[in-house]
Amino acid sequence: SSFYKYKISEDIIKALNGLEYYIPTNVQAKVIPSALEKNDLIVKAQTGSGKTGAYAIPICELIEWLENKPQALILTPTRELAVQIKEDFINIGRFKRVKATAIYGGHPFSVEKAELKQKTHVVVGTPGRVMDHIKKGTLTLSKMNYLVIDEADRMFDMGFASQVEAILKELPGERMTMLFSATMNDEVKSISSKHMKDPIHVDV
Ligand code: AMP
Repeated sequence: SSFYKYKISEDIIKALNGLEYYIPTNVQAKVIPSALEKNDLIVKAQTGSGKTGAYAIPICELIEWLENKPQALILTPTRELAVQIKEDFINIGRFKRVKATAIYGGHPFSVEKAELKQKTHVVVGTPGRVMDHIKKGTLTLSKMNYLVIDEADRMFDMGFASQVEAILKELPGERMTMLFSATMNDEVKSISSKHMKDPIHVDV
């Protein structure tokens, strides 16, 4: 596997082999080394480019298994994507035993509340439902060291901008942020200039 050239542990590489990810895609090659150094990143990438792995691989590597509070929050526009991304984290983190939870509109709140009471490293959610959990005190944010804003342009087109802003205000300031978008419009630029520090720009 040519993923060996990165500072990635054997248990992650083993999972990547199982998924038949032997060679990093373009976006993965550009993002993984910077993400492992905990740089903020703004990435212009399309669906199908392997962008989920570009953030899920370094986040799985950086997660501290023993910490019981969630450490990574992935914001995504739809329930289908939330479920898919959660599965990707579970697959990539299989041998590290990374725990991931998906929270999204239309899913029973009480079920999610019970899941969030258990140990989980990664929370993947749609902005409205994430905000609901924050307001009700059912999602702990104090250890959220990694934030991913996925499909930012699509999320803003769907009217989630104010909710994303509200979530960003609640998160700890000491964190790494990665933003992925197919296009770079003014809303995307505005949120990144307000909430990211010295981001590295990646265009694939
Ligand atoms: P995404 O752009 O994240 O939706 O990924 C697109 C597809 O590429 C998914 O089916 C992934 O499982 C697959 N994929 C991601 N990274 C790799 C890789 N390094 N090698 C082979 N397939 C990959």
